[in-house]
Amino acid sequence: MTRLFSSKTRPVHMGPYPVELLGRMPIADLSRVPAMEALRFENASAPHSIINAMREHQAMLDVIRSGLINGAVAQAPTDPQERTNHLKSFGYFADAALVGTCALPHEAVLDTPTTNPDIDKLAEDLKTVQIKSLAAGIDMIMADLKESMEAEKPSIEPHSHALVFLYENPRDIKPEEPGTDWFEGAYCHRAGLLASETAVVLANYLRLLGYDSRAHTLSSSDVDLNKLAVAAGLATVEDGVLHHPYIGTRFGLAAVTTTFEIATDLPLLPLKQQPKSAFGYAWRFGTKSSKNAGNAVPYAKRRFVDGAHPFENLKRVETPTTYIDEPRVARVPKRTDMFARAQFGDMGKKLQQTSKGGHYVRKAAPSMAQRRALGAFVLLQEGIAAPEKTHYTPQEAADLVKATSYFLGVDAVGISRCPDWTWYSHDARGDEIVPTHDQAISMVIDQGYETMDGSSGDDWIAVAQSMRAYLRFSLLGGVMAKQIASLGYSAKAHTVMDGEVLQPPLLLLAGLGEVSRIGEVILNPYLGPRLKSGVVTTDLPLAHDKPIDFGLQTFCESCNKCARECPSGAITAGPKLMFNGYEIWKSDSQKCTTYRVTTPGGAMCGRCMKTCPWNLEGIFKEKPFRWAAMNMPKLAPALAKLDDAVGNGGLNPVKKWWWDLEITEDGGYRPTAQPVNARGLQKDLKLRFEDQTLAVYPAPLAPHPYPYPFPMDREAGIEAYQAMITAEEYKARLARGDE
Ligand code: SF4
Repeated sequence: MTRLFSSKTRPVHMGPYPVELLGRMPIADLSRVPAMEALRFENASAPHSIINAMREHQAMLDVIRSGLINGAVAQAPTDPQERTNHLKSFGYFADAALVGTCALPHEAVLDTPTTNPDIDKLAEDLKTVQIKSLAAGIDMIMADLKESMEAEKPSIEPHSHALVFLYENPRDIKPEEPGTDWFEGAYCHRAGLLASETAVVLANYLRLLGYDSRAHTLSSSDVDLNKLAVAAGLATVEDGVLHHPYIGTRFGLAAVTTTFEIATDLPLLPLKQQPKSAFGYAWRFGTKSSKNAGNAVPYAKRRFVDGAHPFENLKRVETPTTYIDEPRVARVPKRTDMFARAQFGDMGKKLQQTSKGGHYVRKAAPSMAQRRALGAFVLLQEGIAAPEKTHYTPQEAADLVKATSYFLGVDAVGISRCPDWTWYSHDARGDEIVPTHDQAISMVIDQGYETMDGSSGDDWIAVAQSMRAYLRFSLLGGVMAKQIASLGYSAKAHTVMDGEVLQPPLLLLAGLGEVSRIGEVILNPYLGPRLKSGVVTTDLPLAHDKPIDFGLQTFCESCNKCARECPSGAITAGPKLMFNGYEIWKSDSQKCTTYRVTTPGGAMCGRCMKTCPWNLEGIFKEKPFRWAAMNMPKLAPALAKLDDAVGNGGLNPVKKWWWDLEITEDGGYRPTAQPVNARGLQKDLKLRFEDQTLAVYPAPLAPHPYPYPFPMDREAGIEAYQAMITAEEYKARLARGDE
């Protein structure tokens, strides 16, 4: 159900549910709480259950639930309430439904911690795993995992406080519902897996700040999560079962225990004693919060196979709305990636220094906290086909893949062929890539509206916004690759750390969006450009989606807000041109990367995504905008002006929850000494294409595929930009026979 009310004035730490309406009591009686039962990520009676495909990822999260503590203690705020608000916001940023805090109750500490038995198997597998990955620092990742697996875990006795995360589940499967066979009975595991990801990241975050912390999951824990949930005000015991007044019993838990002192929440009153007002107008219509009685159960009114957004209403077309000269698309080596070029010194010493070891990720603690799990999942992204094949029709397989992906939490899924021209020519080692799969499952993860609303797009949370979405895909895309492999087909999740395909053309073929002025960013009509993608390639035959046309080409022609707001001037204010066989608004990736890697006032940048008029909150009053933008292309100039006039894309300080801490030489996180990037809109700036100096590096200027320097020739890049031609002229030249 579309929301009627905006939650722009609701601070992030209050979360999506109006929990402030609920009655609380001073102390909970934990003696009545049913003991937590450890969850096994295995379903031996149903070999194709998605639970089995989650096993290794859950075990990996359990391996990294504790670790080294930064010896340099951060200069973080000391007010316990500010700390709680910050950590809760981080949990909500990671999509938790509820986050609660409590002092760690003695009776919640288990005499014998539970340990995921799959960790031993994972340790064995990792000894023999073929590390094809060239992800930066893979040796360090392996060493970290080995150490974590072998290390004795000290008691959590010094821990004084706990943060508890609750993830709610979607509705039950309906009879005969297409695509649902794989996830029957997987609800606890789904919520438990997602909660584990968040707890592991937050525990790592607190350790990076210099405080002893550990994550506890449904499969590996030193604490009874049920007792913690009651103590932290996330549940009461109703008829012997854990229950939340708005969510009911459909959820999974994880927690972090820590020495970091935080303010605590009060336990909930039992359901029968809750005030009537807790279920009144505000809850029914969502006047105070984004979650309300009408939308609380995900997928209540949608089929899983269709996704949460009405993708079925989009106009489908035979070919993407931008021209691709498929036979002439130039395959380029992975080494052309600008971050790789910066790291290998192609763009000079300064950039090499600032990008070394992923400094742009390390410089902010939230992204560094996400980086560990992201690195660990690289080892699981390859799905080696099981010996026996399970046969489905392409439509059955596509339905299963889509419905399961949506059930797990992917925001948009599309399926297409995976032509050879979408693969890089050489991997990061310089070895030739021979395309192995001809099917592509493209997935999109929303970067989240709320935090982007509070961010300038290039401040100290920007990098974590990207990493959060990359991490979610690495988890869910990795699980899907394992699932497909269990059916007897080969599959690989192409993640930000290790991928062999170019994702934008695959997203176009799969109908997940259209080319936007931003350049390589594909814009989705329901998520805007506020997304990160990932692709699972496979040889499992799948039914394909078609490209979409929602009028974006006309809209972007009438709007150049992203170009105007780009802090590095990398986005073209000019026309679409042909680049390596694709018709796109070609941005200057060198300028973009240089800014993202070196900006002193933040960590990375996604300001184009933040300021685009398609970056919407998802409320009812925005519907006419989207409808008009999609159906009345002539209105595009007026709509773009209107978006500016109402101030969309500006900073919303209510939503700022992160701390502006920067890593210092001793490895500690301290308040940054640099002025923070906190930008308003530049409505008066008239950006003209003729005033821009942009460079591009098409295939003839691409570097060699090997991991050593290949200096960039910017002058040649500028000339190459000026030599690009429109698709019309390109086609005319082809027709004349002059390629
Ligand atoms: Fe297109 Fe305007 Fe969004 Fe840029 S800001 S991608 S031009 S709609």
